[in-house]
Amino acid sequence: MRRTRVVTTIGPASWDLDKMEALINSGADVFRLNYSHGEPEDKTELYDRIRSLEDKLGKPTCILADLPGPKLRLGNFPGVVVLNSGEEVILNCGVKEMAAAGNSLPVEYDGLSAELKVGDLVLLADGLIRLQVIEVSGIKGSTVMCNVIDGGPVSSRKGINVPGTLVDLPAIGPKDHAALAHALKSGADWVAVSYVRTAEDIRPAREAIKAAGFHTPIIAKIEHPSALSNLNSILDAADAVMVARGDLGVEIPLEQVPLAQQRIIDSALMRGMVVIVATQMLESMTYSPRPTRAEVSDVSTAIRHGGTAVMLSGETASGDYPIKAVETMVKIAQATEDGLTSTGGTPGALTKFRSTRAVAHAGVELARLAEARHILVATQHGNAPRLVGGYRPNANITAVTNQIRAARRMCLLPGVSSVMVEEHERGSETMQNAVRKLAESGKIKSGERIVAISGSPQAMKGATSTVRLYRLEPDGSISGTE
Ligand code: PEP
Repeated sequence: MRRTRVVTTIGPASWDLDKMEALINSGADVFRLNYSHGEPEDKTELYDRIRSLEDKLGKPTCILADLPGPKLRLGNFPGVVVLNSGEEVILNCGVKEMAAAGNSLPVEYDGLSAELKVGDLVLLADGLIRLQVIEVSGIKGSTVMCNVIDGGPVSSRKGINVPGTLVDLPAIGPKDHAALAHALKSGADWVAVSYVRTAEDIRPAREAIKAAGFHTPIIAKIEHPSALSNLNSILDAADAVMVARGDLGVEIPLEQVPLAQQRIIDSALMRGMVVIVATQMLESMTYSPRPTRAEVSDVSTAIRHGGTAVMLSGETASGDYPIKAVETMVKIAQATEDGLTSTGGTPGALTKFRSTRAVAHAGVELARLAEARHILVATQHGNAPRLVGGYRPNANITAVTNQIRAARRMCLLPGVSSVMVEEHERGSETMQNAVRKLAESGKIKSGERIVAISGSPQAMKGATSTVRLYRLEPDGSISGTE
């Protein structure tokens, strides 16, 4: 079974029902909906489509809602504008839309001019285009004159980065609140917070999720140098992390990105956290049916270094070969895992979920010592299997739940599957039922040992406190081991 998860960004190239079905059948584990584009309500139909596919295919499907964050963007204008090196261009701050653009472009944020000074670099379109400021009035809503250093084509809504400037916008602004409310209402399974700079930036999203009555876990996107400075506290505050190399590679020198990636992965693994490596993984597949050797190596390296998920962005959102890109990712992940000898690891202490974490650790150790092939973990919200998964045991992990939302969340966890069963009064009854169901479907075989981690007295509702060791006997009965 493949452990590494494949996150697939949905966009115009992939949002038809038949394409999404083909993506799932090719191995897409998680659909990422990027709230930076369009209005929140535009996504409603996508949630409906994904849930209808879930019913049709009979397997849980996970949705990751990626919030826009305080990313600066150009406003709207028709067509593509080509900026030529050596020419001048005017940025019109606080202008959302222009009927025609050329060497005068709209910039949504009215405060940008006040944050820039002569000589600053302004990068457009993930750093492909470089501008240098030559004149700025410093008044909100005014214009900034720049020299084009490296030219190129630019279109509506492309990102703007100002490296070295801490743009004074909240991590969760009004657009993020609207996106988050829509995502929660629509049943998103994970939420990604963009442009996190400090642990404090996680708090508004956490509070909004709690206030709305959800337990949706949060992914911190690391794409700003301040996030690298505050990495430990950010990871302690989040539930998972994404190496968002697109913006990170603009905000810090590109040649520093590989080591930053390694540091983020190592810090996440020490905490047993999910870590998604994102952006330009199979970039050439946007236009070509085959990846480059360097891209294949990049994906494999990310997995060998400890990434638990790899992400496709433009390749599946707007590329020509979305399904081939997923197939390619799956093949690289499988081949890499087949060549790895050990997946084990012992993360250090987490500040959150301390007692669940201790029981999880005991279960993983028991499975190792008893050579159990399976670890079953009862859960309501998906936290206990996440903590068990953090130890990366060699045993198969199965979340035992009566909540479809928990089963969906498991699709982002490395090597964790799920089984839906009813909750009984006694935890042991629930766990033995789960063993029976997995035995019936051939997932647990006669003679195999199983570690069951659960709450008590009820397996899912009770706080995680109990570890049991079972064996499936040849006559189909379940016993403790000798
Ligand atoms: C990134 O910058 O790599 C990223 C994933 O963020 P986004 O595409 O949302 O800007």
